Amino acid sequence: MIGTGLMGRPMGERIINANYRLLAYNRSLEKAKPLALLGADVVSTPGEAIASSECVILMLADAHAIRETLLQKDSLGLLGNRTVVQMGTISPEESLAIQGEIVRAGGDYFEAPVLGSVPQAVKGELIVMVGSTPEQFGRWSDLLRCFGPDPLRIGPVGDAAALKLALNQLIASLSAAFALSLNFVERKGIDMDLFMKILRNSALYAPMFDNKLKRMIERDYGNPNFPTKHLAKDIDLFLKEAKSLSLEVSGLEGVKRLVQMTLTKGWVETDYSALFSTVGREEK
Ligand code: NAP
Repeated sequence: MIGTGLMGRPMGERIINANYRLLAYNRSLEKAKPLALLGADVVSTPGEAIASSECVILMLADAHAIRETLLQKDSLGLLGNRTVVQMGTISPEESLAIQGEIVRAGGDYFEAPVLGSVPQAVKGELIVMVGSTPEQFGRWSDLLRCFGPDPLRIGPVGDAAALKLALNQLIASLSAAFALSLNFVERKGIDMDLFMKILRNSALYAPMFDNKLKRMIERDYGNPNFPTKHLAKDIDLFLKEAKSLSLEVSGLEGVKRLVQMTLTKGWVETDYSALFSTVGREEK
């Protein structure tokens, strides 16, 4: 497992609990150490992890992080006969480019981005979307079931990455819309419970509203499940892809401005529900 951040660490735990042998690498070593207590071998270079593993799972921030760890000379040379499973959120274009480099180095590659966050990663309840050949899917499904009960093959490499971006665009757009209505109801002095009761009983409801409600009302954005910086990354990835398909994206560009303002106010590593305070024009 390369990348034991918010998601990689609980996913690593799932691998250990399923009785696989796990080697864990993280750029900042201290984030991998808790996995050592559970039985993982924590190593200090990506090469050490790759050299002793049949399968290399990537749970890194973005394509840049993948380049910095896996696509360096020291690591690339070790990828022969290894299968790389890319599980972070990157674009289809990036995924295909990374696949090309890994295959040229003699390795095998497929993508398996996930929907769900830290609580789902802890429980093994992520939705695992796979972009692979049918053969790769057949070979690695058991491993992927550590992370979610029912991995789904979407299509070849690139298709799962695209679907993941389509879903994360919804995270951004839905949370911005909810933050605006919630701020509006609060400023008007209308009973929030009444607002939520009506919303829950309507066709407008999305469960993520309740997931974020408490954080928003209490302005409690610490201990993030999904940091604002990653939402900003995903919006940029989606916008680039959508523009190349000649889609009208001005709605999402508005949401992007809100997310950028949230970053500028200092809510970078905090939970993206901080969008609520941006919409309410509150300072950190
Ligand atoms: P995270 O906690 O920020 O972890 C990011 C990981 O990438 C860390 O291991 C970090 O190392 C590493 N990294 C970042 N830049 C690097 C670089 N230049 N070189 C080497 N390593 C680098 O993120 P996360 O929440 O686990 O998310 C991981 C991926 O999954 C992201 O693509 C995210 O969009 C996606 N995702 C997240 C969620 C979620 O709810 N959190 C859900 C689904 C998908 P350091 O610890 O040293 O910084």
